[in-house]
Amino acid sequence: MNNDHIISIENVTKRFKDGEGEFTALDNINLTFEKGEFAAFIGPSGSGKTTLLNIIGSLDSPTEGSALVMGKDIAHLNHKESALLRNKHIGFIFQVYNLLPVYTVFENVEFALLLQDYTAEQRKKMVMDALDWVGLADIPNKKPSKLSGGQGQRVAIARAMVKRPEILIADEPTANLDAENAHGILKTMKQLNKELQTTFLFATHDEKVMAYMDRIVHLQDGRIKENEIINRKEVKS
Ligand code: ADP
Ligand code: MG
Repeated sequence: MNNDHIISIENVTKRFKDGEGEFTALDNINLTFEKGEFAAFIGPSGSGKTTLLNIIGSLDSPTEGSALVMGKDIAHLNHKESALLRNKHIGFIFQVYNLLPVYTVFENVEFALLLQDYTAEQRKKMVMDALDWVGLADIPNKKPSKLSGGQGQRVAIARAMVKRPEILIADEPTANLDAENAHGILKTMKQLNKELQTTFLFATHDEKVMAYMDRIVHLQDGRIKENEIINRKEVKS
């Protein structure tokens, strides 16, 4: 593995059982990502975007091939090791942001830290920093039912970012947002990408999302159709 590659996918194939036979969702994918990329997988529904993000996020493993994430091969991690990788290094944002309704904004973000050895004081600082990043530091005590869709997705971003993961995976994060809110959260994510050098990987259908990307990987029928570099990553010295 080249040490510059935070993610290195080699000959990854993923098959699912399909009745008597098998369905090939990913067909011999080869790809690498460097630290700090801001990239999206696009392609029609069923092209394999979510399957690929799930493998990179170590929520699923390849049938064949290797997927090295932070130097660890997803295919060979046991349950505990993959949980550890996710816990420390990977944040997730989904289309449905799944906030816990009885908890406040603050508590929803703090939740991501509770299984770790932070003191209450450390957690408070980390949560308030994360809420500050997404522009919600003034409403930590609100309940999710009082938030707009855009604010709800911002809480989900704060929850995913609070541990400062190296990799942030966002599967259709703007699907339930209007245009204004979609642009708002994309600007926020791009800024976090720049400031913290977090590697962002999206799956999307949304043209608004594509407009922010430095790189777009086009998938079709589980294969890479095109690997489009739009902006070369600025190398921070
Ligand atoms: P996308 O996110 O691009 O819409 P997916 O990665 O979700 O596509 O799915 C790719 C293909 O794999 C689809 O045809 C889907 O039905 C199939 N697939 C995904 N997950 C499973 C699963 N757990 N079992 C069986 N088939 C699956
Ligand atoms: Mg999908």
